[in-house]
Amino acid sequence: MTTVNAYAAQNATTPLAPFNFERRDVGNNDIQIEILYCGVCHSDIHQVRNEWGGSIYPMVPGHEIVGRITKIGDEVKNFTVGQLAGVGCFIDSCRVCPSCLANEEQYCDVAMVGTYNSRDKAGNPTYGGYATQIVVDEKYTLHVSEKLPIEGVAPLLCAGITTYSPLRHWNIGKGHKVAVVGLGGLGHMAVKFAASFGADVTVLSTSKSKEQDALNLGAHHFAVTKDPETMKSLQGKFDFILSTISAQHEYNDYLNLLTLNGTMVVVGAPPHPSLVGAFNLIGKRRSLAGSLIGGIKETQEMLDYCAEHNIVSDVEVINASEVNEAYERMLKGDVRYRFVIDIASIK
Ligand code: NAP
Ligand code: ZN
Ligand code: ZN
Repeated sequence: MTTVNAYAAQNATTPLAPFNFERRDVGNNDIQIEILYCGVCHSDIHQVRNEWGGSIYPMVPGHEIVGRITKIGDEVKNFTVGQLAGVGCFIDSCRVCPSCLANEEQYCDVAMVGTYNSRDKAGNPTYGGYATQIVVDEKYTLHVSEKLPIEGVAPLLCAGITTYSPLRHWNIGKGHKVAVVGLGGLGHMAVKFAASFGADVTVLSTSKSKEQDALNLGAHHFAVTKDPETMKSLQGKFDFILSTISAQHEYNDYLNLLTLNGTMVVVGAPPHPSLVGAFNLIGKRRSLAGSLIGGIKETQEMLDYCAEHNIVSDVEVINASEVNEAYERMLKGDVRYRFVIDIASIK
């Protein structure tokens, strides 16, 4: 066992603070990674504050992990010491159900083991990336290119794959009119990918101040959702809407913006449900769907795509001691566009 320094939440209401815990030794198929950067996802806030229920404390959040391999197990085949590696939202799954066999471990029929706030197969709590080191089975570890700035790569492990996967699943590309709702961590990656795939991209945001950024990120249009006239003028305009909103809102406001046969995919995970009007779907044969992160194979494909096309997250690097303040800023929509913790600040 190795003692690891970290930042943890002890309960749902007090700020995150320094914390030590023991990581397991490297097993035959394991990789030990010295964590260099870890992104701050809005899911960290939902879970730290127990907004989804069932939170396990103490909790070391963090599932956008990039670091360097310091040790490998005897049977590790695809990684070597000294390489960069990434870890995303899960570190294990049943490995034998139809979803796992189809490389969609995130939909494991038994249970995907979350990188944190979860229990491994032995029943021990899992601890995430706001920590100096992690040990993960190579099957759930990603290769990270040396080409890109790694602080900008870290958010790809969740914000990147969560937006890449539905855009690929629904074959979004040239000729599609796409709206990205909410310009935060997920939203800004959705804009980059949708534009890169050739779609005509509109950002729908509550923050007028993000307009120029949206265009710089690759969006072609921008609209403020608080303006009823603007929303009216956008009715029936989009083939595909990707909603990344983290707080309670009306799905109906956005469903109406879909064209005939249009699809809205929800990736944002507000804790409270939203009503859906049947006529908003029936009237134009619209679909409402959801999507959860992505499997290991697709996450690797996404990382390779980013390395090839020079795509990284726009980040604000912070020290671990600033994470509570970062949460408050994210809750105000004040993130441009992902906070990433410099893990060296924990040591
Ligand atoms: P974030 O960086 O905080 O961005 C969320 C954005 O939503 C804000 O910047 C804001 O954008 C918009 N927003 C916030 N409150 C709103 C409201 N009341 N009405 C309308 N828009 C609002 O969060 P994130 O890390 O991108 O995560 C977004 C959500 O996705 C979270 O709920 C998270 O848990 C979830 N998530 C899901 C998955 C998955 O697999 N499905 C994976 C990761 C995260 P504007 O300023 O532009 O309005
Ligand atoms: Zn996340
Ligand atoms: Zn499974």
